[in-house]
Order: sequence, then structure tokens, then C-alpha cells
Amino acid sequence: MKQREAAVRSQVVDAVAPFSPWWKARLKTLGRKAADVGSLAGLSSLPAVGERDVCPDGDPAGMAALVLQGTESGFALHAEGPVLRRALASRLARPGSYRAIVEADTRPTSFVWAGLGLRYPVASTRSDLDLVARAGARLWQVLGLTRSDVVVNALPTTPTASTRALELAALGAGSPLLAPGDDVEAVAGALRLVPATALAVSASVAAQLLDDLDEAGAVLDTVRTVLLVGGAYDDERAAVREALQRVGAPECAVLAVHVPEGHRVLWGDCRESGGRTGLHTYPDLEVVQLVDPETGEGATGSGPLEVVVTQLGFRGSALLRWRTGDLATGIDETPCPSCGRTVPRVTGLRPGALVLPLDLRTGLRQVDLRGVSAALVGRADLVDWRIVIGRSARDDSDEVLVHVVPADDADPAEVAVAVARDVRAAAGMLPTQVVVAEDGELPAEGAHLGQRVLSRQ
Ligand SMILES: [Zn+2]
Repeated sequence: MKQREAAVRSQVVDAVAPFSPWWKARLKTLGRKAADVGSLAGLSSLPAVGERDVCPDGDPAGMAALVLQGTESGFALHAEGPVLRRALASRLARPGSYRAIVEADTRPTSFVWAGLGLRYPVASTRSDLDLVARAGARLWQVLGLTRSDVVVNALPTTPTASTRALELAALGAGSPLLAPGDDVEAVAGALRLVPATALAVSASVAAQLLDDLDEAGAVLDTVRTVLLVGGAYDDERAAVREALQRVGAPECAVLAVHVPEGHRVLWGDCRESGGRTGLHTYPDLEVVQLVDPETGEGATGSGPLEVVVTQLGFRGSALLRWRTGDLATGIDETPCPSCGRTVPRVTGLRPGALVLPLDLRTGLRQVDLRGVSAALVGRADLVDWRIVIGRSARDDSDEVLVHVVPADDADPAEVAVAVARDVRAAAGMLPTQVVVAEDGELPAEGAHLGQRVLSRQ
């Protein structure tokens, strides 16, 4: 705990607050000093932020302001003692290498693509990639893989945090990894070339890919682990287990791994649990917390909660209390009943649940429910509200209905217009309809994506 406090302090006070232009301005606006926020308790009091807060107009260029902008003199002021001593010593001995050490720590050299509502680049420095590789070596142990495992990575070739973290994990653990892309023929070809023992696939298409590979005559009988990348819903896991029965590999372990959008390390199921105890995280590299998905503030009441992440020790794109768009039921800090590890575990994860790809009458779009909620939370002209995601009985298109109970002194027609306008400003889309309701008549049916957000899909 003491180490964790020190790591939070060093990340906030020495790295993010002085060197991230966005966070520097944000703390100023909030009237908060870095030292007040630089503790576990202080961090918890910081309102969570996500991609829409950093890029309010939807332009991903805004994300550049999150990246730490270090200079040599700034580095000397804020670097940790041992790193600074090493840098200064080498400056005396070998002029020029001081810059190399500073740059390894502060200069972004590597980018991946992330994002739910918009696509944005995430920057890493060389020392960040080291952290990801070392976390990956630990992930291998959690997954029950060893250096003798051979991995075929059947993810699309776009550089994402997941593909990068898998590559570096294999590198860190000493396992060969082949990445042919997600084309069935190419994956089957790779499986003919190497005796793969682990197959990494996107969770949402895994079952279909296994059937397709079987049909293409791929060699699957050496595979003993299927990694579902992107976190997995229960029905996806079940579908993969059934597919493994069909292709004659019923003994294969099915384990989920996941990098929340914007973050850089892979969380994973432990092999002993077979995916029943939640995703194992890294207490020395991150603080994982939960917030109310409607307000982005401390978790209150019941209902599913949004996962927020603070990175520790990472430079490049700096995330503090970052809203991932993932829902979870809890973070379990007790020892894992299956493997005994004491790392926090994220349970009941629903990856990306708060940003939905909807086929609206106005076209396909990613609808960020956090933006829609933000336009409704705390309004003086409303007594209560619900957001209902459903499907039109008329033409089968998706719908975003906003039900509102106007305050007594408010004109219902004016309230409906104001709500529609504010939803458009906050979420970049108009609701399909704003329905004015009486108190006590708000809809209650549907799966909860928040206390007041319901899905009927
Ligand atoms: Zn475990």
C-alpha cells in the first residue's frame, strides 16, 4: 500500500501534472493542486474523464494534449533519484547519452490506435514498452503459458494496444508469436507452419473463426489455449467452448484477455479459474476503480459501474481516472480463490458496453451513452429521466429514446426541445425522440447499462 501511494504520488506530482498540457489546464480549472490529487484518496476525488472530455468536438487531435511534454531541464527536476543519477553520471562520462536516457523516458516513439466513439492514437515511450513487456511476462504466468508455448495471433493487423501488448508479452516471456492477420486462409497457413499451442482471436468472432479454420483444414490439435482478446461476454465464451467441441479440441482452455480502450497493459483470466474469477490486473502499474457511468463520479447506488484506470509509471499519453467505457460489477481485492494471487480482479466485465454501434434511421454511428447521460444529469428543469435503447417495431432501426419528467414549473414542450439540443451538443447526435412522461410512469424494463440507462436490444 505504501509503495502504491508513492507510485501514485510520483505519477501525478512528478510526471502528469507538470508535463501533460491537458492535465495541467484541467487541474487549474478544478482549482486542485497536484499534491492534493497525488494520493489514492486524492485521486478518488478527481472527476473521471474520457475521450469526449479531451476531444469535445470529436477531433482526435485533442488527444495530443494528454501526452507528456518533457524537456531535459524539466526531466532533471522531476526524474526519480536513481534514474537521474544514472543520467547525470553518464552525461559526465559520455556526453550525448544523457539525452538518450532522457528520451527513453520521455519521448514517444510508438503509437497504437484506440477509442470507442472516436479513433485516436496512444503514445508510448521506450520505457513504457518495457513496462508493457514486463507486464506481459507476468500475464503469461497468469494464463499458465510458458516459453515453450507457440502463439498464433489471429487479430486484425491494425496496431492496437491488444496486438502490441500480445507481441511484447510473447517477447517478454520468450514465446514465438506469429501474426498472420485475421484472414482465415492466412491463419490456416500459419497453423500449418508452426505447431501452435495458443491461438489469440477477437472474442466477438472467435467461435466463427474456429469453425472456419476447421472447414479450411487447419491443424488445431496442438492448440491447448484459446485467448479471447477484447474481454468476453458469457455467451461468447459459451459459443467458443461449443465450437471447440465441434472441431475436436474440447480440452482447450478458454481465457479472456483485455486492454481497456486508451490503456496499454493486458489483463487476463488465470488458467486455474478457467475465467470464473475475473480479469487479473497489476497493482504496481495501475489503479483500477469504478464510477457511476452516468456522472463519472464516485460509485453510488446500485447498477453496473464504469471501469476507470490510472496508469502508474507510464509516460507518453497520460491517463488519470480514465473512463474506459467498460462496465463491471466489481473489483475484488481478496486473494483469487483459484490461483491465490492477491492482485485486484475486475469481475463481470462488459467491454465497451457504454458506447454502442447503433443502426439509427439517420445512419450507422457509435453512440456514447455517457454523453447522452451528461446532458441529463443534474438539470433543474427535470425531476427524473431514463434513456432507453431499443428497436423500432416499424422499420427495425435502432432507437435512442429519452424519457423525461419535467419539473412542475417547466413548460414540457420547451423542456423537450432543450433536452434534444443538449444531447446533440454532448453526444453529437439527436435522440430519436424525447418523450415527456408523468412522474412514476418512466419505463423500467430492459437491461441496465446504468441506473437510468436501459437497453432492450
Ligand atoms: Zn486467479
